[in-house]
Amino acid sequence: MNVSMHFFVSLILCAVLFPFVGWWCVLFFVGSFLVDVDHYLDYVFSFRDLSLKRAYLFYKNYSGHLTVRLNVFHTFEFWVFLLVLSFFYKPVMFFSLGILFHMLLDLHNITVKKNITRSPSIIHWLVKKK
Ligand SMILES: [Zn+2]
Repeated sequence: MNVSMHFFVSLILCAVLFPFVGWWCVLFFVGSFLVDVDHYLDYVFSFRDLSLKRAYLFYKNYSGHLTVRLNVFHTFEFWVFLLVLSFFYKPVMFFSLGILFHMLLDLHNITVKKNITRSPSIIHWLVKKK
């Protein structure tokens, strides 16, 4: 799913949740939308280029044919880390729910488009990288 769709779908769900959870929905929105920052970080570290536009275009056109990318916030290890923290900190719980929602939206790319461009795990990525 592209960035703008993540933004608008998350914003709409945040508005729907607001009467029930109050301002906690903002953390849900932040988790759901800003988790894709790891795409930019991957681009910056891989290509040593700070251009947000080129990073966006790189990922928009990337098909996974060169190598499987590591997007840290999209890995099982990061989710387990957040899950553990969620038991102790309410803000982290709403942030994590946002990321979970984001991942459900991302499933569209994996299941419908069959477009697997990133590793689901840091360990998997490290093994594949060698
Ligand atoms: Zn994503």
